[in-house]
Amino acid sequence: MEAYSAARDLVSKGDYVFLDANENPFGTWNRYPDPLQIDPKTILAKIKGVEVANMVMGNGSDEILDLVYRVACNPQKDEALSLAPSYGMYYTLANLNDVKFNEVMLNEDFSFSTQRLLNAVTPNTKMIIICSPNNPTGIAYPTEQIIEVVKNFKGLVVVDEAYNDFSGVESCINYLKDYDNLVVIQTFSKAWGLASLRAGVGYMSKELAAMINKVKLPYNMDGFTQKSLVEKLQDVEGFKRTVKLLVSERDRFMANVATLPYIEKVFRSDANFFMIRTAKHKELQQYMINNGVILRSRHGMPMCDNCIRITVGTPEQNDLAFRLMQKFGK
Ligand SMILES: *Cc1c(COP(=O)(O)O)cnc(C)c1O
Repeated sequence: MEAYSAARDLVSKGDYVFLDANENPFGTWNRYPDPLQIDPKTILAKIKGVEVANMVMGNGSDEILDLVYRVACNPQKDEALSLAPSYGMYYTLANLNDVKFNEVMLNEDFSFSTQRLLNAVTPNTKMIIICSPNNPTGIAYPTEQIIEVVKNFKGLVVVDEAYNDFSGVESCINYLKDYDNLVVIQTFSKAWGLASLRAGVGYMSKELAAMINKVKLPYNMDGFTQKSLVEKLQDVEGFKRTVKLLVSERDRFMANVATLPYIEKVFRSDANFFMIRTAKHKELQQYMINNGVILRSRHGMPMCDNCIRITVGTPEQNDLAFRLMQKFGK
């Protein structure tokens, strides 16, 4: 397939008179944005130790995932494989792309078995998606174990690292140069605090990045978002401070919740959320809603019977939620 081309692709950056794209010459946001998002990518490439040519940016990481499906899988023929329970979007996007979706259950302690995962590969499996740290369980898998999967599977291994910044676990980005079937997806929606902008990044081989950049809609990331990312990326220190605060708040919040008699289990977490198990999950969720705090029930997902997922908020929000949870128990 040939890529959509714009006349502006012919020139590099500079002070031109633009009479090529039927834009309005007046205003602030009147020009089409850079389809390859070179400015934010250049800064991010330095931070992550990759090259701009290894990157794809999208309208949230959900768009990148969708693009990987579209490029890697033939509808009605190819299959994707993932672990369960995990992020519901993998299944939704498989459905949207008419791709069969297979799942392998996690172990009881929310780790996974490399052998069971690889045994579930069929001749039509084109990609394996691994979310680490996993949503909703909160647990990060060892990087070496994920790389073991990458080594032993011929198709793409997509690692969703939406929560990696909270984990202290080595990012799979460090292995991109060794494996051209590895795709790492990250987002600005969580640790960077920009969920409203809709910005995600995929890191992958240059060949695959070129293919996806050709397939994506040319202006998939708007100019306001690109400009905001460039600004936000100047403040890496601020980013680190926020992550540190959220991680320490997570540990404090979890320790508090673990003291409540009606909580059967607080699961370990490497993310900015954690799961709890209680037979009173329904009543607790309703009580919290009645008092203005929304928690996410995960009851009904595989292995998540009686579970609720709690996102870490500000210290004040966490204190408020904990006080309500104490009151609920009385
Ligand atoms: C929140 C989340 C994302 C982020 O999606 P965006 O489209 O970038 O907002 C990706 N993967 C997982 C597992 C998530 O929980």
